[in-house]
Amino acid sequence: MKTGADSIATTGAGPQAGLPPLRLTVLGATGSIGGSTLDLVARNRERFHVVALTANDRAEDLARAAIAVGAEHAVVADPAAYQRLKDALAGSGITAAAGPQAVREAAARPADMVIAAIVGAAGLEPTIAAAARGTTIALANKECLVCAGDLFMAVARGACATILPVDSEHNAVFQVLERGNLDQVEKLTLTASGGPFRTLSLEAMRGVTPEAALRHPNWSMGARISIDSATMMNKGFEIIEASHLFPLGPEQLEVLVHPQSVVHGMVQYRDGSLLAQLGAPDMRTPIAHCLAWPRRMATPAQRLDLAALATLSFEAPDPLRFPALRIAREAMVAGTAATAALNAADEIAVRAFLDRGIGFLDIAATAETVLERMAAAGDLAEPGCVDDVLGIDGIARGRALEAIAARVG
Ligand code: NDP
Repeated sequence: MKTGADSIATTGAGPQAGLPPLRLTVLGATGSIGGSTLDLVARNRERFHVVALTANDRAEDLARAAIAVGAEHAVVADPAAYQRLKDALAGSGITAAAGPQAVREAAARPADMVIAAIVGAAGLEPTIAAAARGTTIALANKECLVCAGDLFMAVARGACATILPVDSEHNAVFQVLERGNLDQVEKLTLTASGGPFRTLSLEAMRGVTPEAALRHPNWSMGARISIDSATMMNKGFEIIEASHLFPLGPEQLEVLVHPQSVVHGMVQYRDGSLLAQLGAPDMRTPIAHCLAWPRRMATPAQRLDLAALATLSFEAPDPLRFPALRIAREAMVAGTAATAALNAADEIAVRAFLDRGIGFLDIAATAETVLERMAAAGDLAEPGCVDDVLGIDGIARGRALEAIAARVG
């Protein structure tokens, strides 16, 4: 059973200003979200005590970050990076560990808040481990909700965990949603920049390079989410994410292309009021909103000069050039098995595109093929536990590799 927006932020106490430093763990500390978080921590050292930082294999970067913020513990998921981590931490007094189990243990260490910013399905188990402790989770890893939304929210509710959305659009909606008023909402709007190919013809999109696709016009982000933004699969995932955070009907979750990325999300109420959150495209704003919630903290994010901006424009997404949105919506209606499979297939297809194995338009086509084949094979039974999700994820990855091989073969 979903409990709605009330469940994301009212079940736990949340961090309070004026109290001892917030004990913070950052999963995915070497990434784009992790780096923005640690930038805010470094600017407000007195407000935070860093419990643990994790990464995959960038041991030296992780060690540098851990030393800079005085973390207690640092973990790499890749055991092969352990020695490098230990060497880089030598003499610092920071303990080190390695392996997926060690990442889960780091996530479950007592902390007031866990920033869940691992990329991909790898973030699922550590984030669930943190939720099971009933802590406050600032959730960037949208794959948790895309792959296992019902399971994740059930664990969070069961443990009275507080979920704060980091994703800028969901954070925007969270900021303007009057809690307890979800039944007064007509629709939620998530904005999309439209990515680097917003105005490109379908024909031209066929030949775009990974370099061009990685060049996001407004946001600086990790590789996968940048490509997902270019295909708009990311916005599809965000609709799925929103359906778990703010349970409304699929027709009440709208995407609007807004090239300036200034309005991040909007809530349309039944009385005609349309409430929006605006801000410069800088992830430090939504991250700071989570770090300081329910209060506010200062950030160096650029302030909007609306007179200089002069024009904010909006347009409907083009379903022909950006089929990923439709595919994601169909998966959302089909259920969690389909959304988990979609995420896995997309992860494989994005990797293949970055490796120049397939073309840009093949990313969404591969994902759709995988969903069709899994549905036909009866592989989309709803998952009852995380192992089921991981099973679906594995099948989808295999199917995606087959589909890619068939495409290039
Ligand atoms: P990045 O690719 O920049 O960083 C990913 C982080 O996850 C790195 O610390 C990486 O470690 C770690 N990691 C990768 N694989 C594993 C693994 N198998 N086990 C443990 N850790 C791993 O990603 P982003 O920061 O861009 O995105 C993180 C999440 O936040 C994603 O789910 C994304 O969708 C979401 N998000 C991101 C936004 C953004 O602006 N970037 C906005 C909204 C949501 P290492 O460096 O060692 O590889």
